[in-house]
Amino acid sequence: MNLILLGPPGAGKGTQASRLMKERGLVQLSTGDMLRAAVAAGTPVGLQAKAVMESGGLVSDEIVNGILSERLDQDDARAGFILDGYPRTDVQAHALDAMLAAKGLTLDHVVELVVDEDALVERITGRFTCGACGEGYHDRFKQPRVADVCDACGASNFKRRADDNEATVRQRMAEYRAKTAPIIPHYDGRGIVARVDGMADMDAVASAIDGVLGG
Ligand code: AMP
Repeated sequence: MNLILLGPPGAGKGTQASRLMKERGLVQLSTGDMLRAAVAAGTPVGLQAKAVMESGGLVSDEIVNGILSERLDQDDARAGFILDGYPRTDVQAHALDAMLAAKGLTLDHVVELVVDEDALVERITGRFTCGACGEGYHDRFKQPRVADVCDACGASNFKRRADDNEATVRQRMAEYRAKTAPIIPHYDGRGIVARVDGMADMDAVASAIDGVLGG
């Protein structure tokens, strides 16, 4: 099964994608994660992407289409994938169609997480993760049980994304509204789009998505 998870930053795409990865053996393909890895490694792509990401803008279609296409060629993607954060523009949606056709792959579902943007700003600006195992936390909603110690692995090395501040988050949301939400009609005609209430609690969102995916 291959699907796209759509929704503004902080809608819960990453959370739901990692759950689906564990429960269904799908791979999570997050262009944001791939770009952050490139920035951390100081590759040419990373050097080009860094400033744009810090401003909350979109990295060029050419760059993200290239990294996603390469990632789709790795063997694990054949078992099924969840696109998290891609496509984000009309150009990317068309490039994805061409890539999938060339690779003999199809898209089964497009799930849009529908959310309230103001509530999301609070959700995003409070989030942090364990630098060792990636467990997610939040200033208001999910503090570690013991201050400064990861519940999952015991490490004391938390990190926050450089682009999780209010100004950048607002910019990322504006980009979503202007460039990403308008690609949904591209898929509507194929009968594969489902809208899920992303403001519900995590378990309710999970069951709504499971209802869409079936099985
Ligand atoms: P994310 O982790 O999906 O929120 O992405 C973080 C940042 O990476 C975004 O704000 C963009 O600057 C960049 N980015 C990630 N995916 C894409 C994409 N598909 N197209 C353009 N820029 C992207």
